[in-house]
Amino acid sequence: MFSLSDKVAIVTGASRGIGKVIAQVFAMAGAHVVCVARSEDAIKSLADEINANGGSASYVVCDISDGEAFTTLIKDTAKEQGKLDVLINNAGVTQDNLLMRMKEEQWDTVLNINLKGAFHGMKAAIRPMMKNRCGRIINITSIVGLTGNPGQANYAASKAGLIGLSQSVAKEVATRGITVNCIAPGWIGTDMTDELSDEVKEQFLRRIPASRIGTPEDIAHAALFLASDEAEMITGFDLRVDAGAISRYWLWDPGAAE
Ligand code: NAP
Repeated sequence: MFSLSDKVAIVTGASRGIGKVIAQVFAMAGAHVVCVARSEDAIKSLADEINANGGSASYVVCDISDGEAFTTLIKDTAKEQGKLDVLINNAGVTQDNLLMRMKEEQWDTVLNINLKGAFHGMKAAIRPMMKNRCGRIINITSIVGLTGNPGQANYAASKAGLIGLSQSVAKEVATRGITVNCIAPGWIGTDMTDELSDEVKEQFLRRIPASRIGTPEDIAHAALFLASDEAEMITGFDLRVDAGAISRYWLWDPGAAE
């Protein structure tokens, strides 16, 4: 396993789903993990669990769409821990609707959390990382940001924007030892996807060549690699972890495999 020994990592959206497992895996790899979300009980019990199992974790309650609060959290972490090595911008939401019915509020909420939240986080994190001449920023996007999806114009725009933001910042900070990469998950079994109807789930599954729904661990292991020293040469990259879902999206004929 790749080591994050002595690294300090902030993981947003750590109260459940993908972020929770990233926090657990990073702690097992030796990092001090700062767990961030709005649900205090959930991140407190995650930090307690990690510490009880011999790892090192703390938690900060924060709505990442509040730029001032998110910036303060990052500054305080770097001050208290002496440095910041890794920022995982994982927190995200969906508020699905067809564009013709989408309310401006649904657009703003999704863009403010998924895209603007990451902007605030990256902007604050690169200062301590530049000082250290080392850093890893990993933004959790989605294959929907690459393909679009009916009913998810706001979500797809936020994730496509996050890919462009990441590629731009990757070029700005590359000479400072900081890498900026994205992980684009396909369908991962979490609360976010549990909401889908059985019919939609069946349709999606038929389009996945590996016929497999991903787990938060699939994403956490990819994040562990990109956060490691060994991934120093990789920046400005968008790593799809999707069981092949979009590589063969238009060509895949589910009937041919039956
Ligand atoms: P999830 O189970 O719904 O968890 C979302 C996390 O984000 C929660 O911890 C939530 O915590 C946090 N969060 C939401 N809004 C926040 C805010 N304003 N401030 C701070 N934290 C906030 O979702 P998930 O499936 O684990 O998704 C994690 C990431 O992967 C998201 O960016 C999502 O878009 C992306 N993704 C997921 C899938 C999938 O199939 N599941 C596929 C592609 C991409 P609180 O509610 O406690 O604040």
